[in-house]
Amino acid sequence: MCMRCVEVSRRSMLAGGGVLAASLATGAAQARISPRAMVPLIGPGYHPTDQDEKGLWAQMDRVEEEVAGSNLMIKDPALVSYLQDIIGRVGGPAARDMRIYLAHIPDFNAVMFPSGFTVIFSGLLLRARNEAQLAGVIAHESAHFLRRHMIRLWRDMKRKSDIFAIGSMIAGVGGAGAGVATGDLVQLAQLGTILSLFKYNRTMEAEADAMSALLMAQAGYPPMEAANVWQQLIGEADATARYRRKQRRRGSLFDTHPSPHSRMADLRASAAEMTVPGRVYDNHRARYLSKIAPIRAMLLDDQVKLNDPGGSQYLIETLAQDGWNGLLRFYEGEIWRLRNRSGDDRRAAQSYAIAVAYPDAPAEAWRWHGLTLHKEGRRGEASAALSRYLQMKPAAPDAPFIRQMIVG
Ligand SMILES: [Zn+2]
Repeated sequence: MCMRCVEVSRRSMLAGGGVLAASLATGAAQARISPRAMVPLIGPGYHPTDQDEKGLWAQMDRVEEEVAGSNLMIKDPALVSYLQDIIGRVGGPAARDMRIYLAHIPDFNAVMFPSGFTVIFSGLLLRARNEAQLAGVIAHESAHFLRRHMIRLWRDMKRKSDIFAIGSMIAGVGGAGAGVATGDLVQLAQLGTILSLFKYNRTMEAEADAMSALLMAQAGYPPMEAANVWQQLIGEADATARYRRKQRRRGSLFDTHPSPHSRMADLRASAAEMTVPGRVYDNHRARYLSKIAPIRAMLLDDQVKLNDPGGSQYLIETLAQDGWNGLLRFYEGEIWRLRNRSGDDRRAAQSYAIAVAYPDAPAEAWRWHGLTLHKEGRRGEASAALSRYLQMKPAAPDAPFIRQMIVG
């Protein structure tokens, strides 16, 4: 469920009234695709035999080489091998052939390349509430590969002689593949150019959604989580939009984009179809949280620095539906401290105070809690909190400064 996949859906919803009205008028509303109808079009160990697809794969091999070597990738072997395990479960017949990379980019995104490697963005790991949700997104991307959507788009592009599109793509790959010292962001822009050309149509998205429910069920994951992660994403996008609109002018709070309800309804119906009544499913939340634990603070830190308080607040509150902890409370405070409007210091202070009551409160929570107390003239309590910070982080760069604030 890459962002492009979401965009396709959002665009079609924005055009939405019209499309729906037209289909009602003609009685040609698109029926939901059944997950069971989604037969994989490639088997294990697939390699292209047609000349044009071979060429595309050869170019993609060079892109993959660049991706694998890029500094933008998080290369933590334990984490990457965990992701590889997940794609190994939801990759259908191609499970053993697909490769997965984790990019340090704080957006919700996952993209499958035509030769069967996928790049997921770290923002996705922040947003998934359990392993099944992450698996749902990976299953959706796998489905694009298993249904051969990219090669179909590529052929369509060539048939229409879309020279501009083909030219940009080859330029992008050439630049990346030539080993030019372009820098990671340039590489990313080139990848973006390539990927923007692979715009799946609505039927392809519907196929990938349906097949993700099938792949989830086959792997033993609760299929409904694929719908849940989608719903959270819609909620977050709405929260961001609401906040931004509220900033501009008051009174337009409820003037939100229409949600892609029909796609949501289809995802839920497909999930229900693939759910075995009475069966107990494990979403593997505990395993998921333990695997992402080493980078979760970094993921939250990336998010609160995006200057998207509406989206960040929604996200943290959504994650907290599984239970608040010190880390989430601390970053809730960071949203307001970084926004820094009138009254935000009070709001941040409250979050820090709550955060330090949890055993997992990060050192920074004690630091900011202590600094707040100090500012309020509560010197004794401030000293206790700041001492706790120094105990946890004795080599912190600001340790000498903090030590001076502690009453002897
Ligand atoms: Zn998609």
